[in-house]
Amino acid sequence: MEQVELRYLKGIGPKNEKLFNKLGIYSVRDLLYFFPVRYEDRRAVTSIKDLKEEEPALIHARIMAKQVKRVGKNRFSRRGGIFQIIVADSSGKIECVWFNQSYLNDSVSVGDWLLVYGKVTRYKGKLQFTCPDFEKTEKDETADSSLNFGRIVGMYRLTEGISQKRMRRVMAENVKNYVHKIEDYLPFTIRKEKDFLNITQSITNIHLPCDFAAAERARARFIFEELFFSQITVYLRKAKRVMQSGVAFKMVSRLLDTLKQRLGFSLTSAQLKVIGEICEDMQKPYPMHRLLQGDVGSGKTVVALCALAICAANEYQASLMVPTEILAYQHYETCKRLLGPFGYTIELLVSKIPKAKRRRLLENLAGGKIDIVIGTHSLIEEDVQFKQLGLVVIDEQHKFGVSQRALLPKKGVNPDCLVMSATPIPRSLALSLYGDLDLSILDELPRGRKNPETLLIPEGKRNKVYEFIKGKLREGRQAYIVFPVIEESQDQDLLSLNQMYGELKKIFSEFQVAIFHGRMKKEEKQKVVEQFCQKKTHILVATTVIEVGVNIENATVMVVENPERFGLAQLHQLRGRIRRADYQPHFIMMRRQNLSEHALARLRVIAGTCDGFRIAEEDLKSRGPGDFFGHSQSGFPYLKIANPLNDIKILQEARRYAYQIIKKDPQLIESAHKPIRNYLKDWFLS
Ligand code: ADP
Ligand code: MG
Repeated sequence: MEQVELRYLKGIGPKNEKLFNKLGIYSVRDLLYFFPVRYEDRRAVTSIKDLKEEEPALIHARIMAKQVKRVGKNRFSRRGGIFQIIVADSSGKIECVWFNQSYLNDSVSVGDWLLVYGKVTRYKGKLQFTCPDFEKTEKDETADSSLNFGRIVGMYRLTEGISQKRMRRVMAENVKNYVHKIEDYLPFTIRKEKDFLNITQSITNIHLPCDFAAAERARARFIFEELFFSQITVYLRKAKRVMQSGVAFKMVSRLLDTLKQRLGFSLTSAQLKVIGEICEDMQKPYPMHRLLQGDVGSGKTVVALCALAICAANEYQASLMVPTEILAYQHYETCKRLLGPFGYTIELLVSKIPKAKRRRLLENLAGGKIDIVIGTHSLIEEDVQFKQLGLVVIDEQHKFGVSQRALLPKKGVNPDCLVMSATPIPRSLALSLYGDLDLSILDELPRGRKNPETLLIPEGKRNKVYEFIKGKLREGRQAYIVFPVIEESQDQDLLSLNQMYGELKKIFSEFQVAIFHGRMKKEEKQKVVEQFCQKKTHILVATTVIEVGVNIENATVMVVENPERFGLAQLHQLRGRIRRADYQPHFIMMRRQNLSEHALARLRVIAGTCDGFRIAEEDLKSRGPGDFFGHSQSGFPYLKIANPLNDIKILQEARRYAYQIIKKDPQLIESAHKPIRNYLKDWFLS
């Protein structure tokens, strides 16, 4: 398709180009593929006398009276008052009001005919339209020519400066001008088998449907298309990988047995299974590419250690990257304790080590004198080089950006890769997002682990919560109190750490209370954690920095303030920090008044289950994958219309089609597969 710059498109222009960019629209193709998120049925005109409360409706009526009301010191008065009109048709009359939009007064006059669409609500006993959409018409003009009325209209995701009306106009114009020029990327045979319409009809129907069935049919095609290409890229990457040559490690069973004995506990059967999967991968002559998922506390570290040991025993270098220094330090200690006795050289690379020491460390690493290096982002800095990097392990991989994750393996020649994540993702989603990775799951916790008792406590019982914590502290346990923000904000509903710290110190005057958050210096943080470890402090008042890797066995109580501000997956991660074997842990979420039903329902999910996969599923259902991972995290061109969780059947089908195609034609050279090749090129996927 020809490349027309966005600014030259009808209705956009240089000034608005940036606004469209904000929505992720950079080309004509992006624009045509920017689909409505929902539709409104604005086909039938209703008589005013037939309007019903709480129902959206379209009327065609004439303005009888209008006024702008500036009411005293009302909060609306400063920003433009209330604009009211009375409209009437042959059956009756009704009032319409708009807040802060008194400028509307200049756009209409008494006697004008309007099409008005909106939800009818009751105010002081009478029905009215509140902030409805409207458009002027001639008396006997029907709505046929309008993009906004008299039809099913698309509702788009917007950004400030672009209204629904402008978006619809821009779409209508450009769909008309360009829809015939866009290539149909779905191979003809698939379209035929699936009974999809071609691209021209589908794009037209998704933006400007004549009925809901047409819109639905178009959506079905695009959902399939998106998932199909996601799976094509997945299989292509996989096909490429298998053709690369990697290290075929030799098995070192005796060494692993010794390691297992040294642990002091026996591995769960899930751990054994996963270690087996990794051993098999590592013996293969092409690079391992495996994602290990397991809830917080499921014991991923030991699994990683086994992989590191196999690599080191084969005289290759291994590296383990983690998102925080504290975690790096913990892993370093564990690694030295368990793998040190085999005689490997193990080093820690974080940003705070002195220059001279760092230089020596890098020399040794490049010279092959270090077997295992554990570190933070420091590992991906440019001057870090390996002699023979054989294995890369990335812990808490969701904390790294896609490009960051890609950097470490590049420091070797096709090393084996193991990425680990404590954010459980339902298998279907994992397949579509990380489908080029093989998947291992630790679906079992070490024996005897107690799930935290989870409570949702109303604000009014705050003192009881404090008393409860004191009781636990007197028994010798420790506690976390977690806040969503560090500093006070405009938001009255939000408790901040700084605001509460002083107060908590008073409330817990017989104990030591420490503060811990991301803006503290690294040394300070380290010190706070150390003192907490040594039980010199009893309560950590913290932000979510404790979410990753702070592993303190004696802390069994966690209180979360404003839990409604956290993602479900995040709450679950936090809760995982106190999952213990010996003492019953308690996870307390403070429930402020006036929580919305939706917020409450989400918190009840946490209270109702400790199963990370179920929580992830609930979270995804209500938020969609984009929000769940955030754009940069998904590692995958953002799915715009498909939701792999709801569209699981389509995903599986798309996967089958993609598999058949790549198996038969991995280079995509057949002419029937040319559209696929073009798609990958056009969307920068290859
Ligand atoms: P995560 O999967 O969250 O990274 P860790 O690897 O940090 O979990 O393990 C959490 C704790 O459980 C550690 O103290 C670890 O030593 C311990 N652990 C791991 N596996 C077992 C097991 N099979 N039995 C008992 N304890 C275990
Ligand atoms: Mg871990």
